Order: sequence, then structure tokens, then C-alpha cells
Amino acid sequence: MSARGRSPLPPAAKRGAQGGAGYIYLDHAATTPVDEAVLRAMLPYFSEEFGNANSLHRCGRRAVAALDGARDSVAACIGAKASEVYFTSGGTEADNWALRGVLYANAERGRHFILSAAEHHAVLECARALEREGFSYSVAPVNGQGRADVAALEKLFRPDTVLVCLMAANNEVGTVQPLAEVSALCRARGALLFSDAVQAAGALPVNVNAPPVDLLALSSHKLYGPKGAGALYVRTGVKIAPLLFGGLQERGKRGGTANVAGAVGFAAALRLTCERRAQDVPRIAALRDRFAEKVSAGVVGAVRNGDVQNCLPGIANFTFAGAAGEAVLYALDLAGVAASGGAACSSGAPEPSHVLLAMGKSEEQARSSVRFSFGRNNTEAEADAAAAIVVRVLQKLRGGA
Ligand code: PLP
Repeated sequence: MSARGRSPLPPAAKRGAQGGAGYIYLDHAATTPVDEAVLRAMLPYFSEEFGNANSLHRCGRRAVAALDGARDSVAACIGAKASEVYFTSGGTEADNWALRGVLYANAERGRHFILSAAEHHAVLECARALEREGFSYSVAPVNGQGRADVAALEKLFRPDTVLVCLMAANNEVGTVQPLAEVSALCRARGALLFSDAVQAAGALPVNVNAPPVDLLALSSHKLYGPKGAGALYVRTGVKIAPLLFGGLQERGKRGGTANVAGAVGFAAALRLTCERRAQDVPRIAALRDRFAEKVSAGVVGAVRNGDVQNCLPGIANFTFAGAAGEAVLYALDLAGVAASGGAACSSGAPEPSHVLLAMGKSEEQARSSVRFSFGRNNTEAEADAAAAIVVRVLQKLRGGA
């Protein structure tokens, strides 16, 4: 049966939010629901349009056409050429590929790279792995608001520096990074610039020429697209080795049968994000500010983290002194609010966030921090209700009412 023209979802009234009716989802920096229009665009590629883009027959050719269309669309959204866009399984693969691909392919030029202390684990852990392979890296500090210190970063350049990694905006505190200044530095020093725009792309205009970057990572599920899809932009002329060896997919640079439905969904989600940005960003920022003001006023000693003036619109990260972040998260969940710790919490032993530590927070402060992230579907009523719940939960945990 064709999925075209009919809603693939049950009627809205029957759906409810994940977590149950009335549950308030404030964890959009972790992931977002797939937009209904995106799902609609993807559905045919699971069933009637199931061809393998490598097949020579007509089913394959239709898959290639869908993939080409998705690539053209992603390229147009970020100011790139289609030939510079490589589909990946998401942000983690794009980050790993950017680092490994550039360092392996340019090893005769140098084996040193620079990254900011606020980079995502996908960059940090890859850097550590590369160090074990004989490459070396230097970490540029961030200031108390999580912004990379450009003067300190400049001092880290060496004659053998081939790559600088600076995310466009931070995923934990939302701080927008000084990409234009670092881009100019890289151009002057002859180093390549890679930017992880996984969080930024949902909220800020991302254009690979303004400021110029050589490589850029994107992930679909942060902007109302499917999980397991994303892209790495690689500027024409930049030498990059493959990360995945196999067939000749993605112009011989990334083996593996193409995820056509994923690419189509990712492209549709990115386009929608670009089209809606002017209306979504101020609305989401206003919701976040409304919530943050109520939390700051209602929770004694609540400290907002990050560069509040220069922050992604959805994110409000707080330190609630004297309350363990994990306990706050569990209590919030029970009370009907989904939020997140800055760091990956695992089996009762959460590591304090490396970003908050780099910003000068103590381990204890870092462990008592919570990230709230607003999205497209949140309402004013939810912002108010969530703030009231946060205030109540903190009072309870601190031994109050
Ligand atoms: N980079 C940043 C800044 C992120 O926030 C994330 C996800 O949280 C990733 C990379 C990883 O992306 P993915 O989940 O698509 O692997």
C-alpha cells in the first residue's frame, strides 16, 4: 500500500508525548522526535522504493536519484557543492572521520592537531585514540562561559599542525564558539579547520563559507530527522582518507550500502529546519528564557552556566548547589520532566562533565548540573509547569517542603 498522501501516524489525539500525556520533554539537545513531514518523505524508501543505490537496474537508479536529491538539498542548505557532502551514520562517524581521515591523509605534512576543551566526546575520544597511534594534540582552554580562548589557541600552533577542531556551538551549555576568528587563524597558519556543527545546525544558520571551514559534521536526529543519519562536509581539494573501507559508495570515500531513507529524511529535516529557523528560534529562545527566569527566581543559589548572551536558543544549563544532578534528574522524571546531565550518566557513577570542569567548575558543581533543552513542540504552559516542578523538586531534595 502506498504511504503517499495518507498520514503514516495515528491521529494526533491518540499520540501523546513520549513519556505519557502531560510529560514535558526538555531534552532536545539529546534527540528530537522525527517531524511528521520528514517521516512522510522517508516512508516510501522503506518499502516500494527499496532499491540499492549501487544496482544498475531501474530500482537502483531510483535510489541514486533519491540520494542525489538529498545530497543537493543538504549542500544547498549549508552553502556547499553536492560533491562536497558525504552521508554518514551521524555525528559520531562524521567527527571520527574528519579527524582520522585528515590526519592519516596529511601525515607527511604533520602529525599535530588542536582541539578545544569543550569538544564532544566523539572528538575527544578520537583524539585520544589518535594519540595512541603516534599523533599528538593540544587542547585550547575555554573561558568560564565555555567559549574557546582564541589567544590561547593561537599559541598552540606548531609548524606540524595540520588540523584545528572547534565545534560551532557546545552541546552541554549551548555556548556559541568563535568560529570566525579561529577560521581566520587557520587560514593564516595554513591549517585545516573542522567544525562539529551537530548542535548548531538546528538553531543557527550554518554556511561552510561564512566563516570558511574545511570540514563540518552534521547529525539528523538533532533536528527532527531520523537517528543514524548525518553528513560530513569536505571542501574540494582537502585530502581525506576513508574511515570505512568497502565498496565504492560516496565516491569511493565511505564504503557501505547507502541508507537512502535516512539520507532522504535527514535532507528533509535540514531543509525544514532552515525554512522554519526565523520563526522557531525566537519562539524557542523566549520559552527557554521564561523557564530560566522562573527557575533562577525560585531555586535558591541556582547558577546558569554558559554564555547566556551567546547561547543556542533551546539550552539552559543550571548548577543546583547541594543537589546531585542524577538525583535531580530522577526526581524530575518522576515528576514529569525529561532533562539531562551534562555528562553521560552510566550505572550510578556519572563522570563530571569535562566541559563544566574546563569552564572552571569544581567536580561537585559539575556533578550538580542539569541541562534543559527546549524544542519546536514545547509550549509556554509547559515552560511554566516545568519551572514549577524544578522549584518543587529542588525544595524536596534539599530537605524542604
Ligand atoms: N557532536 C555533538 C556536539 C553532539 O551533541 C552529538 C550528540 O550528542 C554528537 C556529536 C554525536 O552525534 P550522533 O548522535 O549523531 O552520533
